Amino acid sequence: MTVDEITRIFRENSALLEGHFILSSGLHSDRYIQCALVLQHPKIAEQLCSELAAKLRAAGATVVAAPALGGILVAHEVARALGIRALFTERQDGNMTLRRGFSLASGEPTLVVEDVMTTGLSTRETMKCIEEAGGNVVAAGALIDRSGGAVDLGVPRAALLTLSIQNYNPAECPLCKAGMAAVKPGSRSKAGVEKSRSRECS
Ligand SMILES: [Zn+2]
Repeated sequence: MTVDEITRIFRENSALLEGHFILSSGLHSDRYIQCALVLQHPKIAEQLCSELAAKLRAAGATVVAAPALGGILVAHEVARALGIRALFTERQDGNMTLRRGFSLASGEPTLVVEDVMTTGLSTRETMKCIEEAGGNVVAAGALIDRSGGAVDLGVPRAALLTLSIQNYNPAECPLCKAGMAAVKPGSRSKAGVEKSRSRECS
């Protein structure tokens, strides 16, 4: 698949929007990504994650791990494509932990994946959790890297789309200064005054 084809899939599913948005963090941005709208279609999820898996196959992992919730479907579909298992980490009292009886062999080569990488923080937390559980993180991946490729995780990494997306403090937002109304995605109100039920993925 080409970058244009992948971009089209995200746009057609309203998973990549352009405009003026209020993110769940409160920051403003000119683009908004909601991977769940793409991943709700299993065939598309399988297709996209198989593309990501192809970029990560050479790392030779025997397991894929992802932070819950956003990464779970990505880990599952990447693992399906590679014929290996998938597990997930989850936050407990603020710390990323491996629960539910999941375990890793000592030194087991592990991929860490996410739906969207913004700062790399949750990928780093997952990597640390996997290493503490005995695994060896050999590569990382995301469907979308919205850092413009700036994140350095210390391991090889891959993304289907690399975008450079600016976030702004509301007081300094150039879109606000231009008088453009801000939208809170997931809100029923275009003015974004109602409580949003959706979160940005990652
Ligand atoms: Zn703004």
